[in-house]
Amino acid sequence: MSRARVLVMNSALGPLDYRVPAGMQVEPGSIVVAPLGPRQLAGVVWEADRMPSDAEVGDNRLRNLIAVADAPPIPEPVRRLIEWTANYYLSPPAAVLAMTLRTSAAFEGAPTIVEYRATGLVPDRLTPQRAQALERIGDRQGLVRELATVADVSEGVIRGLCKIGAIEAVTVDTDSPFPLPDPHFGPPDLSADQADVASILRQSVGAGAFQPFLLDGVTGSGKTEVYFEAVAAALAAGKQTLVLLPEIALTEPFLTRFAQRFGCEPIAWHSGLRTSQRRRAWRAIARGEAMVTVGARSALFLPYPKLGLIVVDEAHETSFKQEEGVHYHARDVAVMRGKFEQCTVVLASATPAIETRHQVELGRYEELKLPGRFGAAEMPDIEAIDLIAEPPERGRWLAPRLVLAIDAALERKEQSLLFLNRRGYAPLTLCRHCGHRFQCPNCTAWMVEHRLIRRLSCHHCGHTYPTPEICPECEEEDSLVACGPGVERIADEVAALWPDARTAIVTSDTLWSPAKAAEFVQRMEHHDIDIVVGTQLVTKGYHFPNLTVVGVVDADLGLDGGDLRAAERTFQQIMQVSGRAGRGVKPGHVYIQTHAPDAQVMQALVSGDSAAFYAAETEARREAGAPPYGRYAAIIVSSEDKAAAEETARLIGRTAPRVDEMHVYGPAPAPMAMLRGRHRFRLLVHARRAFDVQDMIREWLGALEWSAKVRVAVDVDPYSFL
Ligand code: ADP
Ligand code: ZN
Repeated sequence: MSRARVLVMNSALGPLDYRVPAGMQVEPGSIVVAPLGPRQLAGVVWEADRMPSDAEVGDNRLRNLIAVADAPPIPEPVRRLIEWTANYYLSPPAAVLAMTLRTSAAFEGAPTIVEYRATGLVPDRLTPQRAQALERIGDRQGLVRELATVADVSEGVIRGLCKIGAIEAVTVDTDSPFPLPDPHFGPPDLSADQADVASILRQSVGAGAFQPFLLDGVTGSGKTEVYFEAVAAALAAGKQTLVLLPEIALTEPFLTRFAQRFGCEPIAWHSGLRTSQRRRAWRAIARGEAMVTVGARSALFLPYPKLGLIVVDEAHETSFKQEEGVHYHARDVAVMRGKFEQCTVVLASATPAIETRHQVELGRYEELKLPGRFGAAEMPDIEAIDLIAEPPERGRWLAPRLVLAIDAALERKEQSLLFLNRRGYAPLTLCRHCGHRFQCPNCTAWMVEHRLIRRLSCHHCGHTYPTPEICPECEEEDSLVACGPGVERIADEVAALWPDARTAIVTSDTLWSPAKAAEFVQRMEHHDIDIVVGTQLVTKGYHFPNLTVVGVVDADLGLDGGDLRAAERTFQQIMQVSGRAGRGVKPGHVYIQTHAPDAQVMQALVSGDSAAFYAAETEARREAGAPPYGRYAAIIVSSEDKAAAEETARLIGRTAPRVDEMHVYGPAPAPMAMLRGRHRFRLLVHARRAFDVQDMIREWLGALEWSAKVRVAVDVDPYSFL
């Protein structure tokens, strides 16, 4: 008989041994169903034919594996990646594995799935619920549960509609093949610079060895066009490609652009997929039939069996860092995956992170540069507006110079973009009578007014209620005042200044699905929009040739809070949003409103001297021993019980190992002292680059015990210091 070591999908457990019953064939990577207590769990065989040591459980006490899934085994490089990620980010391997086996139905179920859709028949007895369901479902198709969610009705309503024939079942084949992208479909005429870079990438993909590249080109230089050539090379070699984008809102325009180049869309992987779509994509990926996948960071752990290329687009984006569960950074893990897969990795960015530049300096990544915009497009000119010297009118947020610039753009029939990275109408609401401020009961955060839906919402936990008419504290009527601007408030100002202009607000509230994003792109391209007011969601990737004026409403916003990357992030964000201006033949103009026009980051933006800015930032990091010259790990202790959290945090602080290579700061109440109803304390470990912090933390925390009420999370290489 043989025994197998299996990683089961339970984060509390490490790998467990099982007996492989007679007649069952497993190999490392096999996806299996294993018994655990009274339950059955999916898992992956980590070691087959394992020889136990004497001290281990005898064979006769092992339980039998129940079944092997009808799916290809998880390939070796993916298993190595799971181990590496779990180890580096101090996470349970099962939690990482869960990202690989993202959809258990994909390997458990039959190759078909039954979905439902409206038949067009309108029932005689149309209750309001049924009417609402049919209206919202429209021509959508999905599981009963999914349709019920879309329609905001109970599943019973959907089943009722099914009984009377207004909704019908359809069988979807989740194994139906995807069209194959054609590398020769629509190749571009590359400029000389682009062709040079493309040829290096093609060569690397052809060589099939590990090679990370930094593709460093200004916005609009054709980075996408160039890495598409690498995709073409991978297709020609029969290898799979993964393209990671920082936001799912960006996938939709990407799909269209990809289809223009390759004749069909790639496979999209994101949280908005229906069960059947997810299942079909997973199966095609695992079988090696899905040749190009584009997705948000979670696509990184999928079991591509023959990966030849990984592209991380807008690689500097901090949204690649996952802030819950496994705290991994998709950019860094992508490079590790490339190493295990022995393939090409392309990090594309107009504003590469200091960490990435450092890897180039060390000779680990090869830098490829695209110095100018493609074709006739020039880089936009950037001016700062000193809000103290040239203030907006009272109660307004746009300075006169910016207003004139937008006037002129409207006159020329060109589009403008106002950028403010704040959703809603106002970030703070208070009572002018008693001074009461609306705070979230669950978080250390103000309730943000969303005037369009007349609600106050917490952006951290989602707590929301209708904006009250009277102050809950002093009961004064009409006494609430909005403090500070959000995008909705800027949109109000735009409407007041230019009543005839057509405007759009672009935030995650309005562009919450790929379809919404596609609609926005269409409206921009058809010039149905004159002025866009948006958050960071509009700063990335979009290409609107007729957009010529960009106004940054509050350039100082990102500098608040002062974490180590604040200036760098501000620089990147403003460069990105500036990069939306003047991408066609018409020149672009960017106006940066700031209270600190002399700050180094503002000067760098205006002068265009990014080299000097980066040099100064890098030097400051070196002096502070901050990343990439040193390393940090945060330990976040949280509990609904404040005393319990504090006690555990103290215990951790007290038992911190005293070694020369590292220093532990804290514990201290986190800046976000309360989040989703949990009290939070933080410790920050600061160590030398070469020091194995993970090992030390594992040993340190492993020796401690704390109450079940307390959660201790470790964030290695943290990006958030809240
Ligand atoms: P980036 O990714 O660097 O911002 P893009 O790849 O989006 O740049 O290119 C900017 C614009 O220029 C796009 O509309 C793209 O189609 C166009 N473009 C870039 N290179 C070429 C080329 N060689 N031929 C035709 N169009 C190009
Ligand atoms: Zn909250």
